[in-house]
Amino acid sequence: MKKYCFGIDIGGTSVKCGLFDVKGEVLDKWEIKTRTENNGIYIIPDVAGAINNKILEKQLEREDIAGVGIGVPGPVNEAGDILCAVNLHWGYVNLVEQMEKLIGLPVKAGNDANVAALGEMWKGGGAGYHNVVMVTLGTGVGGGIIINGQIVTGSHGAGGEIGHVHVEDSMEEACNCGNKGCLEQVASATGIVRLANARLAADAEPSVLRDGEVSAKTVFDAVKAEDKVAMEIAESFGKYLGSALSVIAGVVDPEVFVIGGGVSKAGDILLDYIRKYYNTYAFSACKDAVFALAELGNDAGIFGAAKMIL
Ligand SMILES: [Zn+2]
Repeated sequence: MKKYCFGIDIGGTSVKCGLFDVKGEVLDKWEIKTRTENNGIYIIPDVAGAINNKILEKQLEREDIAGVGIGVPGPVNEAGDILCAVNLHWGYVNLVEQMEKLIGLPVKAGNDANVAALGEMWKGGGAGYHNVVMVTLGTGVGGGIIINGQIVTGSHGAGGEIGHVHVEDSMEEACNCGNKGCLEQVASATGIVRLANARLAADAEPSVLRDGEVSAKTVFDAVKAEDKVAMEIAESFGKYLGSALSVIAGVVDPEVFVIGGGVSKAGDILLDYIRKYYNTYAFSACKDAVFALAELGNDAGIFGAAKMIL
């Protein structure tokens, strides 16, 4: 009977590490720096060193450890190979094979957004469900899909890349991915600013948003103060995201949508705008899907990584 596992979340500036018991209690949590120089060749040995040191420090027996799950910011195939991870300066990396050699424990790897979705299913906003779609509204829009408790990886590791579904034909600016009219361009923090600026430029209707900085936060603060222009911007955001999620529901039929990322700090009012349009467009059998806010914040990745190995 295994007693412990490690959950590792490799990000562009730091690596978050967690030691868990098999029930999902965090026994220890720490971070190391991500050294991206020389095409990120130090990252795998650094992470292996951090794990090996922790095993020594806590005097753990290797046979008591189920293994190590790792989330990575890039597409990961079923074998645990990283196809590329721009933020880590990685091209193709056989992460699982290298890591298993260095630590002598089973290793699994997954895309960080998918892994975070698994974490939210295990111990966060999706707890108690097995069919979860997570959407992370930050600088970009990330997504992860869990069906029957398993991450949907897809054939290119791009399963759950909800941010780059096409939602707007008239968009002239290009998305970071090179396409035009992606969900990320209208539903991320920067996307909400894009919607706000377009609405504010359309006429001269008074709004508190004309007085200061326009951000996703100031837009939703203004919505809470019942600013009419801000509420129109939120409707537009809700229509794009709610209708996109209704399409996702028609494919995977989740029990719950978990909404996370910085924009989700706006709280339940954000869910109200998404749900309104979701309910308008979703196929009747999918209409009772639950909308929940993410609960684990930056720890979703280490929880999901740990869950991957159990
Ligand atoms: Zn895109």
